Amino acid sequence: MAVAAALTRLQAEAKCPICLDDLRDPVTTECGHNFCCFCIQQSWADPYKGFPCPLCPTSILSWIHFLKHRSLISVLAMTQNLLLSVK
Ligand SMILES: [Zn+2]
Ligand SMILES: [Zn+2]
Repeated sequence: MAVAAALTRLQAEAKCPICLDDLRDPVTTECGHNFCCFCIQQSWADPYKGFPCPLCPTSILSWIHFLKHRSLISVLAMTQNLLLSVK
């Protein structure tokens, strides 16, 4: 079913590429990638390496550039409900 496939893909987009789990306390980098707040902090354990995006060569200049994604969380919740109703 096309709708279910699209929703499944949307859910995959909302996975954290570091822990491969659902995003928890998601943050978005300047380059548009999403990570758990915890995971991206872990990836920056060595401050001498700077703060590269784990997925692309973009250097993230500052925490201030992070956008808290409250709306993403509610979209995810809606997606999950939709998936359950489609199945
Ligand atoms: Zn994560
Ligand atoms: Zn990136």
